[in-house]
Amino acid sequence: MTSLLHGISDPNPYKLLTPGPLTTTLAVREAMLIDRCTWDADYKALTERVRRRLLEVACADPDEFTAVLMQGSGTFGVESVLTSVPGPNDRVLVLVNGAYSVRMCSILEAAGVAHDRMDFAWDEVPQAAAVADWLDAHPETTMVSMVHSETTTGILNDIESVAREVKARGRIMVVDAMSSFGGVPMNLDALGADFVISSANKCIQGVPGFSFIIARRSALEASAGNARSVSLDLYEQWRVLEKDAGKWRFTSPTHVVAAFDEALDEFIAQGGVAARAARYRRCSRMLRDGMKALGFRPYIDEAHQGPIITTFLYPTPDFKFEELYEWLKSRGYVIYPGKLTEADSFRIGNIGEIYPEDIERVLALVKEFMQR
Ligand SMILES: *Cc1c(COP(=O)(O)O)cnc(C)c1O
Repeated sequence: MTSLLHGISDPNPYKLLTPGPLTTTLAVREAMLIDRCTWDADYKALTERVRRRLLEVACADPDEFTAVLMQGSGTFGVESVLTSVPGPNDRVLVLVNGAYSVRMCSILEAAGVAHDRMDFAWDEVPQAAAVADWLDAHPETTMVSMVHSETTTGILNDIESVAREVKARGRIMVVDAMSSFGGVPMNLDALGADFVISSANKCIQGVPGFSFIIARRSALEASAGNARSVSLDLYEQWRVLEKDAGKWRFTSPTHVVAAFDEALDEFIAQGGVAARAARYRRCSRMLRDGMKALGFRPYIDEAHQGPIITTFLYPTPDFKFEELYEWLKSRGYVIYPGKLTEADSFRIGNIGEIYPEDIERVLALVKEFMQR
């Protein structure tokens, strides 16, 4: 895209080492300079292109799967699935090992959807064998819901082995792939999950404003009429998008969708999931190796550590996170507080426009901070 800004330098005062919103390219932000008309053919074509390309990123056969865009942040997408897919005779099992799976339970609770939760330690991945045992003992459980990359801790859950057990028993599988979609390889045709949810401001590197759901057509069609809310009705959202070829049901976040389309252009030009996953893995590994050398211990074991965000424990009881935060912020990087209840921790993410040079710079800054 030609620059409308005539080559101004990036006005961002710092880079975000937070997993969404994250640091985007100037071109992604520039795409928002144009006001678009929601029912015009150009905008509808843009929406349809985004939907088509999301299926490609997911390795999802368009005859089997469809992409639904939903206004709001990622949680709106999760809530849309969990409150409009289960029918009155369904019962959902939530695999809990972090704040985002706890949130799934809150959503089900608030909507009055029958559910159970299976709790795992937050530094452990949910075990497929335990899920298989549960499903064999509980024929009333018709759906299983879990998080892929638990951004709370940075753990990467093993959705493949869980999906195998769930699908072998003919149950519906929901995956919150919010912070992994596009940044961790996923082949939806092989995985067999039925609903995969992510949002604009994570690994595709757009700006916040909508979520998207890759849904198995048969399961989505079967859910017609089950929604417990008007605005989050997944089936209706899909029906309108399909009927009017890219027209959103209610006002669409036009600027955000245009920015996302630009982010997808960049994503594809840079080599798609494989290239992005490789960059994230490299930066994530550099970050942990460097921080360990400076005396910081990661909370998650390397075997289950994901490439998106790392939780570090305070190195000493008198460590002042706020001071490190301000030190880094005034030098160009913003990090994230921890979300653990049992230990003092903080988090550093590495998705967005973050490259190995940034990680080197951050590590040098942390070193200076520790030695000051
Ligand atoms: C970001 C994220 C969400 C959605 O959070 P929002 O604040 O609603 O965008 C859900 N699950 C996971 C794992 C996430 O990382």
